[in-house]
Amino acid sequence: MKFVTSLLAAAAVTVASFAAPAFAQDKGMVGVSMPTKTSTRWISDGETMEKLFKEAGYTPDLQFADDDIPNQLAQIENMVTKGAKVLVIAAIDGTTLSDILQKAADSGVKVIAYDRLIRDSGNVDYYATFDNFQVGVLQATSLVEGLKLDEATEPKNIELFGGSPDDNNAFFFYDGAMSVLQPLIDSGKLVVKSGQMGMDQVGTLRWDGSVAQSRMENLLSSTYTDAKVDGVLSPYDGLSIGIISALKGVGYGSGDLPMPIVTGQDAELPSVKSILAGEQYSTVFKDTRELAKVTVNMVNAIMDGKEPEVNDTKTYENGVKVVPSYLLKPVSVDKTNAKEILVGSGYYTEEQIDN
Ligand code: BGC
Repeated sequence: MKFVTSLLAAAAVTVASFAAPAFAQDKGMVGVSMPTKTSTRWISDGETMEKLFKEAGYTPDLQFADDDIPNQLAQIENMVTKGAKVLVIAAIDGTTLSDILQKAADSGVKVIAYDRLIRDSGNVDYYATFDNFQVGVLQATSLVEGLKLDEATEPKNIELFGGSPDDNNAFFFYDGAMSVLQPLIDSGKLVVKSGQMGMDQVGTLRWDGSVAQSRMENLLSSTYTDAKVDGVLSPYDGLSIGIISALKGVGYGSGDLPMPIVTGQDAELPSVKSILAGEQYSTVFKDTRELAKVTVNMVNAIMDGKEPEVNDTKTYENGVKVVPSYLLKPVSVDKTNAKEILVGSGYYTEEQIDN
């Protein structure tokens, strides 16, 4: 009995000595606020961060806000109340967070804007994102390539779609794209036949695919009854799906009406399949695993009292300050390199893409 008791005591000591470092390692809570689950990229961003934060000894609190602004505000408020040390936020509307971020700052909470810049607040400490202007450049470059504009003898008709006007990124994507397209429009090689240009006319609130689909349907019935559309600038795969659906609805992609060149962003699975099937022309791959890593590194540096690594201190003025940023490189993907890049990097398996 004595032997058993001492064995148990020894076991307890062993358990305690294993448990102790895990407890000592608890570096506190990190709030991770993602906008929505309707796009798989945000699920993957959130889940990768959740995993990395756990591995690094933090307690992540991951929340998705269903694209509902009051919901996101309440979730962030709750994170602050629960004692989060750092907040990582991909905002639904980048202009609505000033009050809650003031509250966070008053409690000493640091804030990282994730992928989307948070505007109109001085309480945004860092920004982790991709080179958003370059995303637009890649989209427009691939549109022009797909249209084979250098061999074309006639002008090509295009239409433009923008992202959500409450998302700062949408303007960077649009401006990046127009840096390539505007000179070609000015020289008459490209024609925006509807005349609809500028984010105020082409923006798509909340990045909603059904809104893009309706707008494309309207464009087709108002502008393309006796002309054909050759290309569509789409800033996001979820919009591209809606746009392609509208195009198919009036016969594009069959008979003598080829599918126009349609761009995208995020390399979402349905769009990658559509690209391999010859419908959507291209997308822009942004490796969310890398963005999650950059963000976790930023949090580690902040918690260690060090300066996080940034590589851009000029571009992202948020209305109050220039937010120090780390920009990752986006990659253009089409039928020719989709497998090499997406399967090669382990982002998808071959089966996911083929089935
Ligand atoms: C992101 C894109 C995404 C879009 C819609 C943007 O802020 O940068 O990757 O396609 O939101 O979710």
